[in-house]
Amino acid sequence: MAAPLTIVGSGMAGLGLARQLRAKDGDRPITLITADSGDDYAKPLLSTGFAKRLPPTRLAARPALEAAEQLNLVMRTHTRVEAIDPVSRTLRLGEERLPWSELVLATGAAPTLPFAVPEAVRERVFSINDLDDYRRFHAVLQGLGRPARVVIIGAGLVGCEFANDLVAGGHAVSLVAPEAAPLPRLLPEPLGHALGEAFLEAGMALHLRRGLEGLDGAGDEVVVALNDGSRLGADLVLAATGLRPRIELAKAAGLAADAAGIRVDRTLATSAPGIYALGDAACVAGINAMYVQPLQASAKALAATLSGQPTEVSYGAWPVLVKTPLLPVVALPPTRPPARWRVEGEGRDLVAYAEAQDERLIGFALTGSRVRRKVELARAAPPLLG
Ligand code: FAD
Repeated sequence: MAAPLTIVGSGMAGLGLARQLRAKDGDRPITLITADSGDDYAKPLLSTGFAKRLPPTRLAARPALEAAEQLNLVMRTHTRVEAIDPVSRTLRLGEERLPWSELVLATGAAPTLPFAVPEAVRERVFSINDLDDYRRFHAVLQGLGRPARVVIIGAGLVGCEFANDLVAGGHAVSLVAPEAAPLPRLLPEPLGHALGEAFLEAGMALHLRRGLEGLDGAGDEVVVALNDGSRLGADLVLAATGLRPRIELAKAAGLAADAAGIRVDRTLATSAPGIYALGDAACVAGINAMYVQPLQASAKALAATLSGQPTEVSYGAWPVLVKTPLLPVVALPPTRPPARWRVEGEGRDLVAYAEAQDERLIGFALTGSRVRRKVELARAAPPLLG
């Protein structure tokens, strides 16, 4: 029997590709291998579950078995691929060698933790990057039987969304970050401050321009020491300190890969014949976007390529919708530093235009009622990958 097309990873990229492939060919043998539960879920919903008090079961659209049946593929869950041999076209899983005809790496990105977690507090320090993480965090939160004190470290998209969601769910949240304002990579400072004000008004404690000195345990409490000498007591700590593309498998197999991701061209082909990559793990023609729309476009293009129609992916000017209902935020960050940010508006209803030297719009950010302008401004902005 011919070796199957094999996908590593069951996130939105891996399952999204499987779906696109099935739409083109109902019978082609496909194997999907994943280190996690394999349940089909939308990762962006993870940072919306606490406000709605959703149990983890409500976040999974379909259990793994059902997804595998519907997509008519072989799914191996809780199975880690240990190595790729690009010459013999096999994967190593423990003692087993699994042949593949074409291989797709959809291994996502892993949370980075730029601080040590002492053994005494290990059970109370989390990052939430998949449904299994959400399940663990949710169980400890529920186990408290009362609103929790949560210290969130990092004020990027993930940190701010969880901060907003946990406050809305009735928990006491402290947000710690070294920058002067939330969402430093998406918003110029005046808009970041507007979001910070909305957070403060909702009862959140902001510790900006503060670094983490260390974590310690005292009974059931985690003590978070900051570099201004203050100490925060917490039931739970949530680290939202960034994501790093998972490139280890690709790198060990000799594929071109670095901190930006597994290097692929616009047909999603890696430097090794027959091996492709997409999603958070992949750096496509120099861009690793780490959002849903780019990976969906990649899945569509790759499905066409793998079905015999070589297709290059394009990304539009797709703004990011940050899920902070306390102050709605939309941003299309410029791909290069702008000559200036021009800010207009009043109160927390702001528009920031990222302009090139010749005044061309190369990105934008919107807060409050101004998020309505997203379509109009996206039309005027350059595509991410045209
Ligand atoms: P992942 O979902 O990380 O999947 C990686 C898969 O690879 C997993 O199944 C893992 O088990 C598997 N794997 C890894 N290594 C191995 C191995 N060696 N062997 C076997 N399996 C392996 N984007 C938006 O556009 N809009 C949003 O509103 C938004 N909100 C977000 C909110 C949160 C809280 C987070 C964390 C992200 C959000 N994003 C959002 C980003 C978006 O969710 C991601 O870009 C996307 O889900 C990444 O999907 P992926 O399939 O590439 O990676």
